[in-house]
Amino acid sequence: MTEPSSAVGRTFRRETELVVNEIAQGLRPLDDGVSWFSGLAPTRQQMVLQEVAGYALQAHITAADGRVGVARSGVKPTANPSVMICMDPPRYGFAGMPSAEHVKAFRVLVSVFAVADTRRRETYCKGACGHAWHNLPAVSEQP
Ligand SMILES: [Zn+2]
Repeated sequence: MTEPSSAVGRTFRRETELVVNEIAQGLRPLDDGVSWFSGLAPTRQQMVLQEVAGYALQAHITAADGRVGVARSGVKPTANPSVMICMDPPRYGFAGMPSAEHVKAFRVLVSVFAVADTRRRETYCKGACGHAWHNLPAVSEQP
């Protein structure tokens, strides 16, 4: 334990991965994830936005995914994060947005990632895949 801060960062990234993928796979409501996100310090929120932008990039989201995701996110299509994600190619600079926009950015990013990731689970990953985040343990009943 020579680098406690990086260990904390790793744990936090795992927590982020779990929350976001549970939402994407319909195991957790978006609003529940938003409550978790809203309780984080702004610097943590930036870390989450960076992390989720990475997932969205890997999931190869399209402008069409962007429009479907925005419609599900509860955020107006004219809000900055909505406009950015619907660009072709999408823009991912969410972590650099003012903190007042973080929650909207989280809603949009997670919703759009969910659209692209669901398509991937139903095609490429169908049957079995080696993605740890597609093989989550059953949601535990935690107090
Ligand atoms: Zn997979």
